[in-house]
Amino acid sequence: MKAKKNTRQRSEQIQQVSAGLRDVLGMTQWRKEHPKATWAEIEAAVDEQINQLRAQLIQDLVQLGEGENWSELPQEERPRCARCGKPLWARGEQTRYLQTNGGEAIKLTRTYGTCPQCGVGFFPPG
Ligand SMILES: [Zn+2]
Repeated sequence: MKAKKNTRQRSEQIQQVSAGLRDVLGMTQWRKEHPKATWAEIEAAVDEQINQLRAQLIQDLVQLGEGENWSELPQEERPRCARCGKPLWARGEQTRYLQTNGGEAIKLTRTYGTCPQCGVGFFPPG
C-alpha cells in the first residue's frame, strides 16, 4: 500500500512539474506554432528540451556532491594516493566534459591532486 501511495504522490508532482516546464521550456508556445505537429515531431521537440534539462540536472547534482574543495582540508582528511596512501597535494581545478545518454555535454570541475611520493596525478573519486 505504501509503495502505491508514493507512486501516486510522485505522479501528482510530475504533473505539476510538467505543467511548469511546458511554459519554461517554451513548449506551450512551440505547440501553438506547430498546431499540426505529429506525435513524432512533438516527441522529438520534447526530447531535445528534456535532454538539455537532463544534462543540466546531472551536472548540478554531480557538482553538489563535489562542492567542497578538499585542498582546504587538513592533511588527514584529504584524499589519498591509490598506490601508496599518502595524502594528495591539490593541483588546482580541472574541467572535464562528459557525454550524457541524451547526447548533451556535461561540464565537471574537480580538484586535481598529485601524490608527493610517487608523483601520480588523480581525480579523487567524488
Ligand atoms: Zn603515491
